[in-house]
Amino acid sequence: MGTVVCEHLRKEFAGGVVAVDDFHVDFGENEFIVIVGPSGCGKSTTLRMIAGLEERTSGNIYIQGRLVNDMPPRDRNIAMVFQNYALYPHMNVYDNMAFGLKLKNVPKDEIDKRVKEAAEILSITSYLSRKPKELSGGQRQRVALGRAIVRNPSVFLMDEPLSNLDAKLRVQMRAEIIKLHRRIGVSTIYVTHDQTEAMTMADRIIVMKDGFVQQIASPQELYDKPANRFVAGFIGTPPMNFLEVSLSNQDGALFLSAQDVHVAVPTEWTEQIKQHNLQQATLGIRAENACPVDGGSIRAMVEVIEPLGSENILTLKVGTQPMIIRVSPEYRPAVGSMVELDLEMQKAHLFDQENGKAYF
Ligand code: ATP
Repeated sequence: MGTVVCEHLRKEFAGGVVAVDDFHVDFGENEFIVIVGPSGCGKSTTLRMIAGLEERTSGNIYIQGRLVNDMPPRDRNIAMVFQNYALYPHMNVYDNMAFGLKLKNVPKDEIDKRVKEAAEILSITSYLSRKPKELSGGQRQRVALGRAIVRNPSVFLMDEPLSNLDAKLRVQMRAEIIKLHRRIGVSTIYVTHDQTEAMTMADRIIVMKDGFVQQIASPQELYDKPANRFVAGFIGTPPMNFLEVSLSNQDGALFLSAQDVHVAVPTEWTEQIKQHNLQQATLGIRAENACPVDGGSIRAMVEVIEPLGSENILTLKVGTQPMIIRVSPEYRPAVGSMVELDLEMQKAHLFDQENGKAYF
């Protein structure tokens, strides 16, 4: 059994808003798991139920094998880190970190040892006597992490802990949190709406939408094998391109067709397409899997070129459908001109037009 196990967890708020439904996840020992999804998908509510800050409507929560459904937060042996740090402004850094331990009547020597160790790990030893207002945002976030570490919890729960930091510091703190996790090896459940944060930090990612888990997988697996169109479009920058296509049979060969699209279906796909008798579908292709080639199977008009130095991002129109591709910095077609593309079909995906489920 993992450190945290959620069984069919559900939260319905007064007024009938179902924030989380059928959340059924086993969080492994020492794993760094990121829950990601758009605003309102139920990430924070899930985390708050695990913490005991929000009452669940139904389902079970176990922490280290103990059923904690009705246990108050302080008895769950978890430590939470929030986006607003929630530091006490009138206490210095040392006292902020020591406060939770004092409440638990931990002996003074032990408190001193734990605070100093955590300060050392987080490189904040020289700030111990400062008040929070005398610290930068990044330093404050370290203090908030320090306060969590000193409690020796069995799980860290982090709710968008980096969202108040500027972009550069956020990237730096991401790396620090990962290093910290490797060093102290405590299971961590981390909530963010930022898919890049999820991709760079997680051992496994849980993608949520409208209260439901869409997919649970490693970052690479989510990228390579999205379970549905939502996950495919949510993970990756720029997002995956989607082209609405019809399936046509020409002289025994299957093609995906739309205005300016005439792509041969890979042989590995034909069996399943026939089985489902697919007439229409959504073709998914990532920006790096389309390549300009004369005589290619897609014709597109160049709308915008964004040179990024290492590559160019081209915004195109395929008939009326938008498409974004990555190309080498030397490739600079004129805006308004027509280009032809070939797709790496072994990396393409096909989704059901109705329910978005991935066939490939
Ligand atoms: P964000 O990224 O914006 O914080 P989130 O994914 O964390 O979003 P939650 O805060 O878990 O989403 O909210 C999930 C849903 O539950 C939303 O529709 C929200 O409006 C609703 N909700 C949250 N708290 C309450 C509440 N106290 N009463 C009623 N509805 C609530």
